[in-house]
Amino acid sequence: THFGEQTVALDDKQGLVNEVFHRVADRYDLMNDLMSGGVHRVWKDAMVARLAPPKQGSVPYRVLDMAGGTGDIAERIVNASVGYAEVTVSDINADMLRVGEERSHKWRFPAQVKFVEANAEALPFEDESFDAYTIAFGIRNVPRIPLALKEAQRVLKRGGRFLCLEFSQVDTPVLSEVYKAFSDRVIPPIGRAVTGDAQPYQYLVESIRKFPTPEHFSKMIADAGFKRVTHTPFTGNIAALHAAWKL
Ligand code: SAM
Repeated sequence: THFGEQTVALDDKQGLVNEVFHRVADRYDLMNDLMSGGVHRVWKDAMVARLAPPKQGSVPYRVLDMAGGTGDIAERIVNASVGYAEVTVSDINADMLRVGEERSHKWRFPAQVKFVEANAEALPFEDESFDAYTIAFGIRNVPRIPLALKEAQRVLKRGGRFLCLEFSQVDTPVLSEVYKAFSDRVIPPIGRAVTGDAQPYQYLVESIRKFPTPEHFSKMIADAGFKRVTHTPFTGNIAALHAAWKL
């Protein structure tokens, strides 16, 4: 059936994504720095500044950093809260989590994080168990985005914060040309130089091009039940921060 075929294609996509991150896990952070010239750090800092996690309180402040990979968003959140926030880093890829967990032993507040292997489409967490859900450069890789958004909505408490950082669609013609040339000519060769294979990075470039526009993605977030959905462009809309509330 048509439906059956589509399901197989989506499972193929997840298989491809898993293969990419299995291959690059050990060099993932180096890769990000090389490919973005370090700019991903600025975007991630801006995301955590928007979250502004509390530094104290009478109850724990629990954050789920989904597709959290090697834990760099989680480390920023814990540091911003000066060791108050409790962050669960969740990712479908055990290799990425292993690198993150090893790294976390050297954090300033290593006791504030745990690592849980899970698929964003079907989370092993209770309803209304987190104060915030963050996902950075992860949602694009999830085959069924509406399912992941529904799960985010389910696990958040009322009043919970949703923040999603993702590549976006560059809107100015000149930057768009430069960015296209950069994506086609610079990214795959860096991928090949560092991991020995350009193919995974070809996937990366294509997945960025296929991702919905900020307006369309905002509508998907609202369709999942979130309120007060906003988006903020970063660096000429190369990336965008989507924010919303569960009310
Ligand atoms: N958040 C980190 C960052 O910003 O650098 C890592 C982002 S990395 C580009 C994408 C991550 O999404 C990978 O670690 C990958 O394993 C994870 N991922 C892909 N599909 C997923 C899924 N269905 N559920 C959970 N994580 C997934």
